Amino acid sequence: MVILKTPEEIELMRESALIVSRTLGMLAGEIKPGITSLYLDKLAEEFIRDHDAEPGFLGMYDFPNTLNMSPNAQVVHGIPNNDPLKDGDIISVDCGALKNGFYGDHAYTFEVGEVAIETQKLLRVTKESLYIGIREFRLGNRVGDVGFAIQNYCESHGYGVVRELVGHGLGRKLHESPEMPNYGKRGRGKKFVEGMVVAIEPMINMGTRRIKQLNDGWTILTADGKPSAHFEHDVALINGKPELLSTYQYIYEALGIQSDEEAEFRRHEFH
Ligand code: MG
Ligand code: MG
Repeated sequence: MVILKTPEEIELMRESALIVSRTLGMLAGEIKPGITSLYLDKLAEEFIRDHDAEPGFLGMYDFPNTLNMSPNAQVVHGIPNNDPLKDGDIISVDCGALKNGFYGDHAYTFEVGEVAIETQKLLRVTKESLYIGIREFRLGNRVGDVGFAIQNYCESHGYGVVRELVGHGLGRKLHESPEMPNYGKRGRGKKFVEGMVVAIEPMINMGTRRIKQLNDGWTILTADGKPSAHFEHDVALINGKPELLSTYQYIYEALGIQSDEEAEFRRHEFH
């Protein structure tokens, strides 16, 4: 059952989402060769608690840490460890926070030092597919419209779209109905209505869409060992249209990146 949110609840959810956005922005300034994901995890936990929130993933389904840290061929659900990041790595950072009873859940794939051009392209296309998918999250559209848009765009670049893991409704629970696959058919699935809040999160592989799982019971990685990217925003359906609750602006400020992608998205939505 889809749990719809009131405008007041959506404002609380924006607060939770923005705590995660700020956490990712803080991490952006720390991610560099030689740093370990476990160190970053501790920073994130401290930062979230300093903002009167709880880490959303710590202890959830018995996950041992605050962040999902998934470098290179890891797709999602990587466990932070003491391996130093290397120049040329990418690392997908997925973070959750719980505040006022609501979850924020938001992810970004970072470059560590100088990254190969073809990997940079994977990150760019995956992030573009996120916005392309979000645009379909509008009144009267259906779950399949979002999935189709993401799949179509990523496959047109020859990338593999992971099927086994999906986006989801978000609220007082981290995972609510509906499931939001990154693949699908136009006009199929649950219809979007006012007050829905979802996490849309393409997980896109440079090569095969096939995945495997490490025997730690968590880490998902690509079957062919090629890199994978993951970007996730929290989005509410307000006035018939998608409204971003999370933002990458803190990341871009920390990295000195000039990006108008979110303003661009809003212009596209509201004109
Ligand atoms: Mg997430
Ligand atoms: Mg999620």
